[in-house]
Amino acid sequence: MKIYNTLSKRKEEFVPLEEGKVRMYVCGPTVYNLIHIGNARPMIVFDTVRRYMEHKGYEVNYVSNFTDVDDKIIAKANEEGVSSEEISQRYIAECKKDMSDMNVKPATTHPLATQEIDGMIHMIQTLIDKGYAYPVEDGTVYFRVKKFKEYGKLSHKNLDDLQSGFRALQVSGENQKEDPLDFVLWKPKKEGEPSWPSPWCDGRPGWHIECSVMSKKYLGEEIDIHAGGEDLVFPHHENEIAQSECCNGKQFARYWMHNAFLNIDNKKMSKSLGNFFTVREVGEEYNLQVLRFFMLSAHYRSPLNFSRDLMTAAKNGLERIVTCGTSLKDRLEKAEGAATEDEKKLMEELGSYTAKFDEAMDDDFNSADAISVIFELVKFANTHVNENSSKEFTEAVFSELQELSDIMGLIVVKEAEILDADIEALIQERQEARKAKNFARADEIRDQLLAQGIVLKDTREGVKWTRA
Ligand code: AMP
Ligand code: ZN
Repeated sequence: MKIYNTLSKRKEEFVPLEEGKVRMYVCGPTVYNLIHIGNARPMIVFDTVRRYMEHKGYEVNYVSNFTDVDDKIIAKANEEGVSSEEISQRYIAECKKDMSDMNVKPATTHPLATQEIDGMIHMIQTLIDKGYAYPVEDGTVYFRVKKFKEYGKLSHKNLDDLQSGFRALQVSGENQKEDPLDFVLWKPKKEGEPSWPSPWCDGRPGWHIECSVMSKKYLGEEIDIHAGGEDLVFPHHENEIAQSECCNGKQFARYWMHNAFLNIDNKKMSKSLGNFFTVREVGEEYNLQVLRFFMLSAHYRSPLNFSRDLMTAAKNGLERIVTCGTSLKDRLEKAEGAATEDEKKLMEELGSYTAKFDEAMDDDFNSADAISVIFELVKFANTHVNENSSKEFTEAVFSELQELSDIMGLIVVKEAEILDADIEALIQERQEARKAKNFARADEIRDQLLAQGIVLKDTREGVKWTRA
């Protein structure tokens, strides 16, 4: 299996630190709002990497944090007149709902920055003791960038260039820094902000130290894969490397993976530009399986432009797979008996789909090619499985389709979804039952709809319904 490593700018053979195990850390979102579909790209991409690793037999320890202390969370809390914790808890819950709707598996651990402050204080103290960090008068602690000779190795930036850039940008109020390149590990609290006591001042951690500490606590000092969107390469991941390697004296992560941006009109989708759609909004128009399929139709290192045309193409593509999966499942319920000689020959061909699929995914997770293999398998199924096929053969084709689709996080069997027209018809029947004073039937219909997630409300303008 080859992975493109941002560190070496090459595809490298994947060799885990410990045989059969993968330790993987993915930087998670800052929780102050509903996530947008740009944030969903790393979630879907790296969940697929994880699923593929699991398919290859690795045991994956997958850690992804929530950044729950940050200027934007504090600003939102002040705006609403509630605590930062209330904001972050609310949006963690919303984010988990979106993840589940996109069929993104929960991480092995989802640590929260605010629960790991002791570890951060400890790491900062070690960095001070080793001469890599220093506190200044107001209690801010900075990392001494020039002391780490390898700084810039991930982003392939050169210290001199960085330095001239930074000199021009030096922020007022940061004049206690020894060097404009130095970055914050701990900062003093401001009025109305969450804070924790520390040896330097009451305050809160810088963003970068959070990930170094959570990765170390849940995965150890050395990990296999560290991942996130490409905007995190510099400074976030560069600074994580500096902190972790200076503290632990070991290489931090062996493979660094970065997804390209999800764009709109060829511009990065972002909260600050205001050119975003939330996952929730997209979910009102499309099943989020369509969004997942759309994301995986492109290679994760290629920019991807969000458009209605591409979403329509994704919807149609997914529909072909789901129609095939659903009809195989239906056939399976009726089919009987063992495979015939001809079917046995065809079953030998089935293994070649997994082999081709793996070949695509082994090449730095080429999900677009892997999806093409699923389409080839759909064609095989449509050609060879019919109402005369044996149970054994139908089952073999169905489980092949299900297995490959599951690695992509795609669900191949249509869930029995109740259509709007069916709901309206049942509501009509309920009204008539009530008119006829058949309340037992009216209640039965209400309960039946409720069981399918449909809530009825009797209003003056008639019966209204919503999907729960
Ligand atoms: P944030 O909450 O901004 O820290 O972002 C959480 C994750 O989403 C990070 O891995 C970002 O790199 C990633 N991300 C944010 N915007 C985009 C985008 N437009 N396309 C792809 N990834 C993004
Ligand atoms: Zn991080």
